[in-house]
Amino acid sequence: MKNKGVLLVVSGPSGVGKGTVCQQLLKAHPEVFFSVSATTRKMREIDQEGVTYYFKTKEEFEQMVADDALLEWATFCDNSYGTPKAPVLERLNEGTSVLLEIDVQGALQVKKNYPDAVLVFILPPSLSTLEERLRNRGTETEETIQVRMKQYRREFEQATAYQYLVINDDLSKAVCDLEAVLRAEQMRTERCQQIIEEVFE
Ligand code: ADP
Ligand code: 5GP
Repeated sequence: MKNKGVLLVVSGPSGVGKGTVCQQLLKAHPEVFFSVSATTRKMREIDQEGVTYYFKTKEEFEQMVADDALLEWATFCDNSYGTPKAPVLERLNEGTSVLLEIDVQGALQVKKNYPDAVLVFILPPSLSTLEERLRNRGTETEETIQVRMKQYRREFEQATAYQYLVINDDLSKAVCDLEAVLRAEQMRTERCQQIIEEVFE
């Protein structure tokens, strides 16, 4: 018996810990499919092709847009990021829940095209904690940190269409909260039609 898959979309400011929270959720729930995005941004030391992102040239990315191969895409800090469409739709049709970790512009596009999508915004306990995490991660220049901090306010203002907020203060609590959202959404009556039919067969 299978429920319909949940399209779980997680966003939040850079450095808030989205990646960390999502990785922990996936560790506990290997049945959830993580959508690996395509991007034109440069690889960081911890990045792995096909695992953290599919790294593309500008031309390759433009071709994916022209081929309508992306579920959504957006430009962030001069780089393009997008969700490959086919693997996500395949998994959802199979009844597998799918996790997207994408920015607000992309999440709102997803919500518009797939109203069933569930949007979760991750907040830091404070702005100073956010800046500290971003700095401690050691992947950004001071200039990029300032750009990313400015972007955050705009991102949050746009996040009114999100259904859930998770505060990433204590990591394990944030993971539990995200897990609770996923579980509750999987149990919504409209996603359980197949189960209902099987019970009454
Ligand atoms: P994002 O994916 O949102 O850009 P990351 O997952 O890379 O953020 O996390 C940014 C930094 O904050 C990392 O160094 C990570 O280890 C740290 N971090 C994440 N969550 C927490 C938390 N709850 N408490 C303290 N540090 C955290
Ligand atoms: P980073 O460069 O730190 O890996 O990611 C920067 C921002 O791009 C983050 O907010 C991240 O969630 C977002 N992002 C990653 N992949 C995608 C995607 O496929 N689409 C969109 N719209 N944003 C993405």
